[in-house]
Amino acid sequence: MTQHSTEQTHGRHTRHVQRMRRIVVVGAGVAGLAAARELLRLAPGAEVVVLERDARVGGLIETESTQDGFLVEHGPDSLLTWKPLNMQVVRELELSAALVSGTGVPRATFVAQGSELVPMPDGLLGGIPSAAMPLFRSPLLSVGAKLRMTAEPFMPRKTTSDDESVASFVSRRFGREVLTRLVDPLVSGIYGAPAERLSAKASIPQLVELERAHGSIAWGMRKTRGQRTARKTDDPLVVSLAGGMSTLTDTLAATLGPRVRLQAEVTKIEHKQGGGFRLQVSGAHLDTDALIVASPAHVAAVLLADIDAELAHALSGIVHGPLNAISMAFHKRDVAHPMQGTGFIVPSNQERFTTACSWMSQKWPGRAPQDRVLLRSFVQAEGATDADLVQLALHDLRELMGIEAAPEWTRIKRRARGLPRYEVGHGQRAIAMRERVAAHGPLAMAGNVWNGVGIPDCMQSGMLAAAEVLRALDARG
Ligand SMILES: Cc1cc2nc3c(=O)[nH]c(=O)nc-3n(C[C@H](O)[C@H](O)[C@H](O)COP(=O)(O)OP(=O)(O)OC[C@H]3O[C@@H](n4cnc5c(N)ncnc54)[C@H](O)[C@@H]3O)c2cc1C
Repeated sequence: MTQHSTEQTHGRHTRHVQRMRRIVVVGAGVAGLAAARELLRLAPGAEVVVLERDARVGGLIETESTQDGFLVEHGPDSLLTWKPLNMQVVRELELSAALVSGTGVPRATFVAQGSELVPMPDGLLGGIPSAAMPLFRSPLLSVGAKLRMTAEPFMPRKTTSDDESVASFVSRRFGREVLTRLVDPLVSGIYGAPAERLSAKASIPQLVELERAHGSIAWGMRKTRGQRTARKTDDPLVVSLAGGMSTLTDTLAATLGPRVRLQAEVTKIEHKQGGGFRLQVSGAHLDTDALIVASPAHVAAVLLADIDAELAHALSGIVHGPLNAISMAFHKRDVAHPMQGTGFIVPSNQERFTTACSWMSQKWPGRAPQDRVLLRSFVQAEGATDADLVQLALHDLRELMGIEAAPEWTRIKRRARGLPRYEVGHGQRAIAMRERVAAHGPLAMAGNVWNGVGIPDCMQSGMLAAAEVLRALDARG
């Protein structure tokens, strides 16, 4: 829903909420902050309170400036420019001048094949073939796989509307090799789960829609090219912020001022007699007329257990894959690889612990001093200690990039529960959960479980949640 239509639909609610209703948002990640900002926009008279467990805002968005001149991202590092909400919020927060789009190094991604890094061909959208010629020239696919790929427009359209896995969708349309060599490494790097486990409808909805509407991805892409190329062709597809991604959440939080309370952990949520909710916050009570829960789903499951055990059970069933990011600083002279790109991914058939590595100082300006290099590897190894993770990352860097030297320093960000996995059937389960949430009155959920895991998806979920609680407050009168 656009901001405009949100306002049109909910303009009436503004009057009620201006009678100083309190609306609490739990969690100051980008979803919670966007929800609070939208509440203030739609209902300027409301008392909005954002409760954040940590001593900082941002949640998964976390930038660190080191004393020796590096800018380290522990979470996301990029904004997709073709997601309109990203650019809209950047403009509204007056951050356009802070956008950075690259370092002049080609934006190529490499794929690990044995001990080589092979350039990923152009013409891939999220690992899915969208242009045939560059793929034909690539050594990544066998001749048989290339021929199979060209048959995509003639593959029968799926006749039922039920969900299937990303693996099933991609191999049905493009063949098995495109799945294992191109798509699986990309999606498993993001979700910490193989494509077999992930819902096609929830993880790659645009492609599912192309098949439904046009019978073929290739035909669909051709027919919708006009819409997709409405942006200028020299516009970058991804951008970042000069001071790092925390600039976004810090600036969002600044618009909310003292409404954001840090180190305020919500430990319990109950219905309040006469309507609304009672929260236990760091040992004290806080009553509220309406509530938006924008914490991760596994936390929401615990918080909402007293209110709705079935909902809590459903929320706790959403698996969050582990995500270990190891940032490493090297002297430039110690890196043998020319690094003419932004990093590499590792297909699951490669028997490595590294799933991907971003060459952060190649990708964005200002990430490392001139004579230094900043790399970030993602390593998956059950039961590994911090020292193990670093050793595993270095082992792969040695073999793939010829880096023999020890890093000058390392920063390890371990997340036992990283991003939620959208497993097959996720969309239907999410709808059922939202219906249960709505039955509890002015209560809504926001965050990366609902509309997609990307930053704009999370912001949108927050904005929709704001509109939902205002609507529920209005209905209650
Ligand atoms: C390594 C990595 C790279 C990524 N890269 C990109 C990218 O490049 N581009 C992109 O668009 N997206 C990317 N993402 C995804 C995106 O960053 C996240 O999905 C998004 O930031 C999640 O926001 P959120 O508000 O839903 O959740 P969170 O950021 O998890 O925020 C939830 C907040 O709730 C707080 N909280 C938890 N429990 C409580 C409690 N009991 N009481 C009060 N507060 C509580 C937490 O402290 C946290 O601040 C990436 C994610 C990761 C991890």
